[in-house]
Amino acid sequence: MSKDQKTILILGGGTGGTVMAHRLSRALDHKHWRVAVLDHGADHLYQPGLLLVPFGVYTLSDITRKRRFRRGIDWIAEEAVAIEPEKNRVRLRNGGNVGYDILIIATGCETRPQETAGSLGSLWGKSIFDFYTPAGSAGLAPALADFAGGDLVVHIAEMPIKCPVAPLEFAFLTDAYLRKRGIRSKTKLTFVTPLSGAFTKPIASGMLGELMHRKDIAVVPEFNIERIDEEKKSIFSYDGTGIRFDLLVTVPPNMGSRVIEASGFGDEMHFVPTDHKTLQSKIAPNIFALGDATDLPSSKAGAVAHFQADILTRNILDFIHDRPCSAAFEGHSNCFIESGHGKGIMIDFNYRTEPLPGKFPLPLVGPFSLLKETRINHWGKLLFRHLYWNLLLKGRSIPFVKSAMSMRGKIPPRGREEWQTQH
Ligand SMILES: Cc1cc2nc3c(=O)[nH]c(=O)nc-3n(C[C@H](O)[C@H](O)[C@H](O)COP(=O)(O)OP(=O)(O)OC[C@H]3O[C@@H](n4cnc5c(N)ncnc54)[C@H](O)[C@@H]3O)c2cc1C
Repeated sequence: MSKDQKTILILGGGTGGTVMAHRLSRALDHKHWRVAVLDHGADHLYQPGLLLVPFGVYTLSDITRKRRFRRGIDWIAEEAVAIEPEKNRVRLRNGGNVGYDILIIATGCETRPQETAGSLGSLWGKSIFDFYTPAGSAGLAPALADFAGGDLVVHIAEMPIKCPVAPLEFAFLTDAYLRKRGIRSKTKLTFVTPLSGAFTKPIASGMLGELMHRKDIAVVPEFNIERIDEEKKSIFSYDGTGIRFDLLVTVPPNMGSRVIEASGFGDEMHFVPTDHKTLQSKIAPNIFALGDATDLPSSKAGAVAHFQADILTRNILDFIHDRPCSAAFEGHSNCFIESGHGKGIMIDFNYRTEPLPGKFPLPLVGPFSLLKETRINHWGKLLFRHLYWNLLLKGRSIPFVKSAMSMRGKIPPRGREEWQTQH
């Protein structure tokens, strides 16, 4: 590193951090700027693949690759223990420090099962599993294969969680899996959520709730978990409602990284206070954030981190050139929802516009149907893994998919107010 070089340090080399590193490395003059990524993990995990491991579609090795960056990006394989904004440096577990001129926080979020009383007892890993971690997802595969019928409960402890549709997908895929095994009629499948319905947004929630009903999956809304009772093999809510399980698949509370907690500037869930539009943090002007680590009201999803990277790259270039941040993130999110039997649903929305029915135009492979089960949506989901490794992570754009949501093909219901939410 030359002494005239300044450092952009990206803390976290997951989806958002890797995309940002590649984009900035292409956009900046290396004589003046060094791009460094700090992440202790040797491997990069394609997290959406965790959904399919319990059903035997993938193994963990199918969805894991060695962490790699293009030439010119420094990878510091260390764990950060605290950020010190007043000193413009990050403290490391090994006792050292890394200084920065600009810091991008991309530390994602992690599951905290210990936040739920009774969670990590003797049934954890035997009758209670999560599928948000490699160990949980891999452990669930034999448990599902051995399941012989009874009460199977899919449960979300608390919002927000990353990929808020993944538990729904898990319920749909479980339904299909048990039917294939001929034990669906011996199983009561229940979806338990703290939300008022199957999903956060009313139109999608209605459609997905209806699909749950058709697949005979009972939905228990507004369930705020108080504890897991191992003896009674039940989950209990604060209002005393109990739900029995033989197999519990839970999504534990998702919280920001421990480094944010230790740095003392996160919110109560350890998410980084961040401007919802510019992605500049509220901690210091030279600290930015993207992806699951932020307190943004957008979905916590890889696709969202990718859209945010577009905005953040432009705003970092503005910051470097002493201009006000000119790009605004509008909350664009889209994803495929696996619904079982080789079908899927697509949703596309932003801060103001909730998921609407219609078409998502995409030349060559599309259009994909919105809020409707189709086979092509399922193939879109499988194709996404290849786009992830080959385009998205490398900081390339996915052709025809923009960071700003388009209304092309969407069919709004009558009365604009019904589908436009204020932000
Ligand atoms: C089961 C499941 C299914 C999903 N399905 C989808 C889907 O279909 N579509 C979709 O778009 N998204 C999906 N997601 C969500 C998606 O994977 C995440 O939203 C995305 O990875 C967020 O990117 P990120 O960069 O913010 O965080 P991450 O990709 O999680 O990266 C965070 C990085 O920070 C590093 N880090 C954290 N703390 C430290 C520290 N102290 N020091 C150094 N490094 C640190 C970690 O090692 C990690 O590499 C799914 C997630 C799960 C769990």
